[in-house]
Amino acid sequence: MNDWYFRGCRRATDQRFQLLLFGNGSLTRFYMPELQIGDLRVEVVRKNIRSLRLTVYAADNRIRVAVPTRTSATDVEQFVQARRTWILKHQARFQARVRPAAPLYVSGEIHYYQGVQHILQVHITSGTPQVVCHFGQTLELYVRATDSVEQRGKVLTAWYRAQLKQQLPALIAQWQHVVGVQVQEWGVKQMKTRWGTCNIRAKRIWLNLDLIKRTPHCLEYVVVHELVHLHERLHNARFWGLMDQFMPDWRTFRNQLKESLGESGIELDAC
Ligand SMILES: [Zn+2]
Repeated sequence: MNDWYFRGCRRATDQRFQLLLFGNGSLTRFYMPELQIGDLRVEVVRKNIRSLRLTVYAADNRIRVAVPTRTSATDVEQFVQARRTWILKHQARFQARVRPAAPLYVSGEIHYYQGVQHILQVHITSGTPQVVCHFGQTLELYVRATDSVEQRGKVLTAWYRAQLKQQLPALIAQWQHVVGVQVQEWGVKQMKTRWGTCNIRAKRIWLNLDLIKRTPHCLEYVVVHELVHLHERLHNARFWGLMDQFMPDWRTFRNQLKESLGESGIELDAC
């Protein structure tokens, strides 16, 4: 087994590389492209993309910028510096966030459905586990006496998934008509970093399962956003112009999603 240890740090212009020495003496360059921009430390990822994209990670406040392959360090620096306020704002917000305790699925707990708080009422049943919703009031969770916390969670998650899958066909059909596109396939997925994704070639959209806990407008915004990607891949002026055209209030709904960030931990991209 090789014995790895930190050898040192070399600065090549403003890019940082860490040099690591193998136990056997062979030197390898552990490529860690990072830029120190003022007081900010920024990970730089070069990709075959057209525009620069900045991300602040909620989990550890990391700053990452994805840039087109040939972007100069100066351009990256300018891009980040112009967004310094945005970065600091989100870092402060993430830090201030009180991480919610993991749910225990016991009576009295608050769970969201369609943007509305519901009080969980747990009932023991010998029948099939299920959820009954009294909208705006309670979610009645029927579980077996022997069900673990995890199993209780699975029952509720399955119910959330079923609700979202039931609501999506009408929503997608309605908005496909407005946006003038047709998806080949859609699905629901538990995603940690995105509210939705769109595979343009396959004309397939995925919606985050968590959207069922947000207001119907939030869900609608993400559906329209992904459908608009079938017209325009990038988050450019044309994309937002189409959003304005099809859903004039999209900014309000997007802000609602941002507000709910505290609970979801889903990261925000500067787009
Ligand atoms: Zn998008």
